[in-house]
Amino acid sequence: MLQVAINGYGTIGKRVADAVRAQPDMEVLGVAKTRPNFEAEQAIAKEYPLYAAIEERADQFGEAGLEIAGPVEDLIDEADVVVDATPSGVGAQNKELYEAYDTPALYQGGEAKDLAEVSFNARANYADAADADHVRVVSCNTTGLSRIVAPLEEAYGIEKVRATLVRRGGDPGQTSRGPINDILPNPVTLPSHHGPDVNTIFPDLEIDTLGMKVPATMMHMHSVNVTLETDVDAADVRELFAGENRLFLIPERMAIDGSGKLKEYALDAGRPRGDLWENCIWEESISTVGRDLYFFQGIHQESDVVPENVDAIRAVTGLADADESMATTDETLGVGF
Ligand code: NAD
Repeated sequence: MLQVAINGYGTIGKRVADAVRAQPDMEVLGVAKTRPNFEAEQAIAKEYPLYAAIEERADQFGEAGLEIAGPVEDLIDEADVVVDATPSGVGAQNKELYEAYDTPALYQGGEAKDLAEVSFNARANYADAADADHVRVVSCNTTGLSRIVAPLEEAYGIEKVRATLVRRGGDPGQTSRGPINDILPNPVTLPSHHGPDVNTIFPDLEIDTLGMKVPATMMHMHSVNVTLETDVDAADVRELFAGENRLFLIPERMAIDGSGKLKEYALDAGRPRGDLWENCIWEESISTVGRDLYFFQGIHQESDVVPENVDAIRAVTGLADADESMATTDETLGVGF
């Protein structure tokens, strides 16, 4: 069994831990936290060995009645691979630690692309991560765009992607985030960082992205226009997307008109934390005009990167090839409605 360490047990880290636990070929060696909050208590309740990420604060855990397995260094030393799910920029500070113990590391999309040898999306470039020591699983938005670019590129060729990303202001737990009642062009200049980030996966892709922020916490919404290299029929694109397990085509009959009902559906379906690991594409929005394809997709920022992290673990450690890994991940988590 592959031993996986998770450093940073917040929004992404706790989901990755649960996803790793569900796999037949890997287990959670432990999780590291900086302070004893509700998530630390839950880690103990779930019987994840809890390690102190910051030595000077280790005593706080004992004072809060939480037993610590040791310092984060012990965890990294013993792990076969570490998933760093610390806040943006902290992963870069942790790189030295992972190098010191020669432990391959996965970072998240908030880190700069230069931190890692490879930026990763399972559907697009799984094999590139083989034997890499430092891999960045791209952000939620870049994951969502990569999952649609890969099949479209293969089936039709892409001349250009134009995507407008209406982004949630913060995650449900991020009380410090705004805007409270506003709509921000964000960034106000073009392109938003998302297009260049997609180019870390598809270097030759023509893509322009615009970003906005709105006072929502549930999901991002992408308005996507792809100019393909050939004329295409909307029905063919629907069929192509329907063949991709990590794309959920929301049927018109479900009467899901936005993020709120999508999340409600996920909860009704018994998804943990109401997670939506798939791109949620409104089937009837898929439209074509000549070579231009249009559609809307909802991206659940807190969870779409979770199956990608599991696949990245297998990719760097050589546990499985892309198809095998994605199939196992999807089956064990229940990805694909
Ligand atoms: P988060 O703040 O919810 O969780 C980060 C956790 O790391 C917190 O528990 C924090 O206490 C802990 N931490 C802080 N410093 C640490 C240290 N030195 N060592 C160990 N732990 C430390 O953040 P998040 O939303 O999970 O984001 C983590 C990464 O994932 C970022 O790079 C982010 O850009 C990326 N990401 C986030 C989302 C999202 O929407 N939340 C989506 C995709 C990718």
